[in-house]
Amino acid sequence: MKTALVLGAGGFIGSHLVKRLKAEGFFVRAVDLKQTEFGASPADEFVIGDLREQDVCRAAYDRHFDEVYQLAADMGGAGYIFTGEHDADIMHNSASINLNIAASANKQGVGALFYSSSACMYPAYNQLDPDNPNCEESSAYPAEPDSEYGWEKLFSERLYLSYARNYGMKVHIARYHNIFGPEGTWQGGKEKAPAAVCRKVAMTQSGGDVEVWGDGQQTRSFLYIDECIEGTLRLTRSNKTGPYNIGSDEMVTISQLVDVVSDLAEKPVSKRFVPGPTGVRGRNSDNRLIEKELGWRPSEPLRDGLAKTYRWIEAQVMAQDKG
Ligand code: NAD
Repeated sequence: MKTALVLGAGGFIGSHLVKRLKAEGFFVRAVDLKQTEFGASPADEFVIGDLREQDVCRAAYDRHFDEVYQLAADMGGAGYIFTGEHDADIMHNSASINLNIAASANKQGVGALFYSSSACMYPAYNQLDPDNPNCEESSAYPAEPDSEYGWEKLFSERLYLSYARNYGMKVHIARYHNIFGPEGTWQGGKEKAPAAVCRKVAMTQSGGDVEVWGDGQQTRSFLYIDECIEGTLRLTRSNKTGPYNIGSDEMVTISQLVDVVSDLAEKPVSKRFVPGPTGVRGRNSDNRLIEKELGWRPSEPLRDGLAKTYRWIEAQVMAQDKG
């Protein structure tokens, strides 16, 4: 039986990944600070532990695994990572986790280690024009991420690449671009734009107001969770290291995102633009490299993924109202 270690398995992407690995017949050990929020994890073992602690990391990673997925990070949406208020925690927590995991992987050996970096590591100066952002993998340097979250991702990319270079560790790095879908954080301050918009629309009466941070003209692309998992597995099982973008290249403004959700909900809403943390002006996934080197690119239209996500968030809102 093949074995996998999923770090950050209590989170959004990790919980979906565990389900997929179990469906493929893997033995899965999951590790996180917390259990999954929505339904029990099918992992064979679920270790609750703080990966910032070297002893905890060593105990959780005490043998060889065929595949290791490193998704644990101090993470959140714009309201968490772009305000500056959590910078010290983000840098310290995520860097400590990655330093510990890289050392354990090197000690125990690993068939393949996947690391989830982020599009937030791309330089701010290439993302000023909302219609024409440059997120080609080779554009990462000279580095100038617009957040400490992005700097930490860049540091950890380099950390894992160093282990690959010096110790021959088999490392695979993706730069995720805005992953969304059911069973993701949808309230509380750490949710990201698609979930926040779905929640706001679900909670608003037809014809009501939906608050949008900034002027709504900032552009982004959003990738549905199932496609993220597919790209992650293909990369981890390839002989390619990366980093590669894993994201959608269907770019929309945040205002258009609200329009699509309002249309899916069959609820006309008016947008109220308010000051808030917005991140870079424009960002889109450049999928040319992954398509060329892995022969794969995501293809599901944004609207289809949003339809599934909206239905799920609407059900959460209704359940909360009843409770
Ligand atoms: P998430 O916050 O839902 O999951 C991260 C998990 O890591 C959480 O369950 C959290 O409890 C766990 N964690 C944090 N600190 C820990 C610690 N000290 N010890 C053990 N576990 C700890 O985030 P996600 O959306 O599932 O993202 C997974 C990874 O992908 C993260 O590294 C994130 O930075 C990266 N990423 C995600 C996106 C996205 O749009 N979701 C985009 C770019 C990159």
